[in-house]
Amino acid sequence: MATICKDVQEWVEEQVWKPVDDWVERTEKRCEEYDWWNPIGWFCWLVTIVVKIVRWVLAPVFTLVFRIVCEVVNFFVNVVAAVVNIVLAIPIIGPIIKAIIRAVVTAVSYVIGLLDGLGRLVGIRITKHLRVHVMPLCEGVIPLAYEAHLAPIMRETERILYARAQIRVHTRFHEPIRNPPENALRLGTEVDLIADEAWLKGTWHQMQTVKLFESNLWSLLAVGHPIVVYVVREVGYDGPGTVAGASGGLFTDWIAVERDSVVPQIVADATGAPATPLSPHPPTVASPTATVPVANRSYAQRIIAHEICHSLGLLGHANSNPGELMVPGSITGDALSPFQVGIIRSSGHVTFL
Ligand SMILES: [Zn+2]
Repeated sequence: MATICKDVQEWVEEQVWKPVDDWVERTEKRCEEYDWWNPIGWFCWLVTIVVKIVRWVLAPVFTLVFRIVCEVVNFFVNVVAAVVNIVLAIPIIGPIIKAIIRAVVTAVSYVIGLLDGLGRLVGIRITKHLRVHVMPLCEGVIPLAYEAHLAPIMRETERILYARAQIRVHTRFHEPIRNPPENALRLGTEVDLIADEAWLKGTWHQMQTVKLFESNLWSLLAVGHPIVVYVVREVGYDGPGTVAGASGGLFTDWIAVERDSVVPQIVADATGAPATPLSPHPPTVASPTATVPVANRSYAQRIIAHEICHSLGLLGHANSNPGELMVPGSITGDALSPFQVGIIRSSGHVTFL
């Protein structure tokens, strides 16, 4: 079942049926307080029984009707959108068309974001949601990292976005992708990245993303669509460590980060110093001898939050001061300005549900 149908149903369950059930339970307790001969007590019972019957009849009817309508609409929408998405994956032409569609959607969501921003000014602060999928790649069949290695940086990413922008990040970890093309493991940045995205590497990541999610329409419109974090071998063609992450900005649904910058612990050598080449701890393949962990000095705990913010609309690094999240190079703090918060909260990826 498509995620959007499930989300709406869960929302109705949470926001409508559960409060009704709670109300019935509370009212029943209060009904018991009346003496048996008191007519107000009888009336009290009558009301709760009627509400209960209506609720038990309406809930399944609603679920059934909603599911049928939702499935049919979703099916046709996804067929059309899947075809469009395949067209969009064509090198050069695809990304240009997509950029235009995104620009229009972005303009619309900024208007909605403006209302949210005004609300925040007068103290109405609503939690918004962002779905993030973490996909490590393999070098051949050897995983760069597993969930265990990436969980700490994702917890930190979730903390930053909630603390700074009241965006609840929902993280899902995937199994490492075996045998990715060599050029998907190594990405350029800035000018290089735009060229990569317009050419084949972007196509590979985009096709991976299309394969992953059935809600193709949302991929095209970038409304509520997840962001995928690819954990790759190298970003920036500079050797590990210097440029640690990349984002294609508004035009992509994914970011890429270097494995060596996102794992907090690495394997130590016999002297207790980091082993070279750097390898995450615990080892991703079985080791014949026991290994000892040591802190990874290249660990950049804020890099994923930083790159996600680029994808959510913070292009470039203008107006960022030391100690803030959107500085270039090494990131020592996680502050965001109210203006930046306004922009990322109004991204199409960030939703009210
Ligand atoms: Zn940046």
